[in-house]
This record gives sequence, C-alpha cells and structure tokens, in this order.
Amino acid sequence: MVEFSFTEQQEMFRKILHEWCQKNLTLEKVREMDTKGMMPPGIVKEMANLGLHIMTAPQEHGGTGADWVTACIAAQELGYHDISIAIPVFFLVQSSWGFAVDRHCTERVRKEYVNKAMRGEGFVGIATTEPGGGSDVAAFKSTGKKEGNEWIINGEKIYISGTEEAVKMDGGFFITVRTAPAPPRAAHKGMTGFFLPINMPGVEITKRFDDVGRMGISTGGFAMKNVRLPEDYMVGEEGKGFYITMEGFDGARLLIGATCIGAAQRALELGMDYIKERKAFGQPIGKFEGIHFELADDWAQLEALKSLVYRTAWMMDEKYKHRRFSPLEVAQYISACKLKCPHFALHAIEHAMLWMGAYGYTKECPLEMGWRGVMSYCIGAEGATNIQRVVIARELLGKEYMAHK
Ligand SMILES: Cc1cc2nc3c(=O)[nH]c(=O)nc-3n(C[C@H](O)[C@H](O)[C@H](O)COP(=O)(O)OP(=O)(O)OC[C@H]3O[C@@H](n4cnc5c(N)ncnc54)[C@H](O)[C@@H]3O)c2cc1C
Repeated sequence: MVEFSFTEQQEMFRKILHEWCQKNLTLEKVREMDTKGMMPPGIVKEMANLGLHIMTAPQEHGGTGADWVTACIAAQELGYHDISIAIPVFFLVQSSWGFAVDRHCTERVRKEYVNKAMRGEGFVGIATTEPGGGSDVAAFKSTGKKEGNEWIINGEKIYISGTEEAVKMDGGFFITVRTAPAPPRAAHKGMTGFFLPINMPGVEITKRFDDVGRMGISTGGFAMKNVRLPEDYMVGEEGKGFYITMEGFDGARLLIGATCIGAAQRALELGMDYIKERKAFGQPIGKFEGIHFELADDWAQLEALKSLVYRTAWMMDEKYKHRRFSPLEVAQYISACKLKCPHFALHAIEHAMLWMGAYGYTKECPLEMGWRGVMSYCIGAEGATNIQRVVIARELLGKEYMAHK
C-alpha cells in the first residue's frame, strides 16, 4: 500500500513556516536582499527560533531531529518565498553539511561550532572545490600533515558559499584534504575530512565573487597556509573524508531539489496571476492555447518532480532510520533530483517571464531573481549536472562502465 500524505506534524510545520515566510520573506524583502547583497538583519536568528538550522541533527545533539521529508518541506517553502534562493542556500548548506559534520565530528567541534550554528550564531558550510576544479572530488590538492597532536593544512578552496557570513559569524567549513598518497585507481582513498574554523590563523580570504544571482549570500575563496588544526577538528576517521563528503552532497542535492520545486511553483503561480489579467487581442492571454500547453506541461512536470523529491526524501529517512536502502541506491535517486529540478525550475521561470512580455525582463518583476538564482544549481553548486548523470549511469550499468575506471 502506498501512502502519499504528510503527517499531521509535517503539515503543521509547513503551515507555521508558510505563515512566517509570508511575513518575513515577502517579494519586496527578497528584492531588497538581492539589491543590498545581504540577508535581512535578524533573519538567521529568527530561523533558529523556528528550529531550521541543521534541523536534521538529532535532538540529543541539539538539533530538532527532523526527518528529511520535513527538511524538504522547509526547503520547498523557503524556495517558494525567496525565489532568489539566497535564504534557501543558507538553510540547505547547513542542514546537509552541518548534518554530516554533526554525525562524524568530535564533541569539541559540536559544542564550539555546530551547536552555535543551530542557535543562529554561527555557520557550518562546505569547502571542497579548489582552483583546479570541483567535479573530481578525489583529485583535490590541499594537504594535511600530522605534527604531534595537530594537523598542518595547506591548500586553497574557491567558489565557496557563505565565506563572508562565516567570517562574520565566526563559523567554518567542512574541508577534505589529502593526508595519504592515493593508491592506484582509488584516488578517493587517503582523503580526510576536517572542520576548518574560518577565523583560524593561516586562513586568508582570497576572493569575494560578484555573482550573477542569489545575492543575499556571498561566494568566495580562501587559502590555507600552514593552518594548525587540533587533532580533534578531524571529522570522521583518517582517510575516510570522501565518504563523509558524499553524505553531505546527498543531503544538499536532495534539498536543492525541494528548493527548486518551490521556486518553480511560485513562478507558475505568478505567471498564472499575470495571464489571467493581461489582455491581448481583446482577451486575457490566459485564454490562448499556446499558453495553456506550456502551463499544463510545466504543471505536470512540477507534480512529477515533487513526487520524485519526496519519494527520495522518504528513501533517505528509511536509509538512516532502518538501513533499508543502500547509500548508492539512494544517491542514484538524489542525483535524479539534482539533475532534473534546477533545470526544470529554470525552464518554468523562463516560461512565466515570457508570458509577462517586456515586464518579465525588468527588475520590477521578481522572476529574474529566480532565473539568476536557480542557474547556480544548473551550473554546478553542490555538483555539476553531468556528474549527476555519471552517478545515475554508474548505478544503472555498473562501475566497470565509468569513463575514468
Ligand atoms: C554559486 C556557486 C556556489 C558554490 N558553492 C560551493 C560551496 O559552498 N562549496 C564548494 O565546495 N563548492 C561550491 N561551488 C562549486 C561547485 O561545487 C562546483 O562548481 C562544481 O563542483 C563543479 O566544479 P567546477 O566548477 O570546477 O567545474 P568542473 O569540474 O571544471 O567541470 C566543468 C564542466 O565539465 C563537466 N564535467 C566534469 N566532469 C565530467 C565528466 N566526468 N563527464 C561529463 N562532464 C563532466 C561538468 O559537468 C561541467 O559542466 C559553488 C559553485 C557555484 C556556481
């Protein structure tokens, strides 16, 4: 028997969050955030009061112990209201990477950084990408060498979401660095995960990018020059950083799927409002079949992707609660979410912009913020589109058919 409804608790959570967003994330406020290039003051603390930061972490660690279905509800609501997707990025980076760090970190890191982020006073982000590239996670060049009870970290990370917020909030990033030479044909081995406080001596901010979209959150880079990390800043076991990285990506890519269906749904609704009012050739443009066909296709696709996202969230919950699906099986579905949802959202936003004619091309119309924001996930934040295809094909055909094996 298949059940397609949310629990009473999940519905209640959606209602509370929806009402909060209607007050705090109006389109006017989102536009202001986009123009000023920063989140509204106090919003991070208010999100903490709603239990949104790293909400998937268990209650005994200070989280709300939310399941992944509930986290997707949050991401969808935030994506619906903040179509620029800056606030959803802040939310989803922490709910996925904060979750992975919390699962594997020491009590010290949890107390000093993870719990602080949960209270809305800190930030836990992800920094895997390096100047040499982001897709080939196993080929990163940053290194870690053990010296007594410290690790000496050297290297550079770039295109990192939330660098400026991390500095201001005295937060940090999950990083992976090479701590042992790669065995032949197994470059993912010998990578170790650490929590890097951004304000640590030896960390130097190298860049703030002038991004195309999601202006409310910064993207930057930093260098690590002989950073001395205490050994209890290691996350997980030595040499196992790659696997924790994959855990973080799983959560992030799933929540990106939910964020993008939220943004797409908002675009369709804004588009429908417009085509009912706007007249051409003596009638509302919503009476023309050319528009009906696009609208119907987009709605059908939206509903299909909603089902995919929530089914995948359910699989993720089953994996963590009951070890029911293998991590690779779940990762295949997660990659399908990351592959399809951002591109669909971009497409749906573009359709609604086209229905709006010249108005759609102005900043008086909110849709262009969504167009710019969602594009970041089409391009590659939390994993390039083709990499999702590589993951799916690997599961369909077997590892022996991977190009680089
Ligand atoms: C707005 C934004 C925010 C970001 N935030 C973060 C962050 O917080 N932390 C972080 O670590 N990184 C972040 N990134 C970086 C992101 O993770 C990388 O962009 C992504 O992993 C791709 O890496 P790359 O840009 O170096 O592209 P590359 O790896 O150089 O890939 C370039 C192109 O080649 C294609 N390609 C690569 N390998 C294959 C293959 N095997 N088969 C077919 N095609 C392939 C890719 O699909 C892509 O189109 C962010 C990126 C953006 C745009």
